[in-house]
Amino acid sequence: MNLITLTNIARPPRPVTMHLPHASYCAASGKCACIKQEIATLVEDPSTGKRLPKRTTKLIPSTLRLMAGSTAGKLPEAVLQAPEVKAAITNKLVADVTPKVKTKTKVQAPSEAAKPETAAPEGAAPEAADPKAARRGRKSRK
Ligand SMILES: [Zn+2]
Repeated sequence: MNLITLTNIARPPRPVTMHLPHASYCAASGKCACIKQEIATLVEDPSTGKRLPKRTTKLIPSTLRLMAGSTAGKLPEAVLQAPEVKAAITNKLVADVTPKVKTKTKVQAPSEAAKPETAAPEGAAPEAADPKAARRGRKSRK
């Protein structure tokens, strides 16, 4: 997972808050960053008339908040998948200022295997077939 840096470039300066929805952000990052809120509700049992607590878990998407002019680094690249982050970049509220890190991996140029081709001496190349040698109109019948 690459890490990115976002900075708030909103003019006039103002804080920018972007939701990181489960469907896009969590799916892209591979882990859920949502806030899991347990909601206890009382559900009436129709047979007994008793009210019983029922617990459900609600996923509340996490948010990325950048104060005016602030920069947030080491953000998972998955934030770029969130529609609100995309929109903020498009609307020039936020800019991706991830420093370009040079990879230490040496990129080896595809070394052309230096195969010393046996240099044919001049004139030794087979001569192209002389077109005049081919007789015209000669038909071979069997
Ligand atoms: Zn999630």
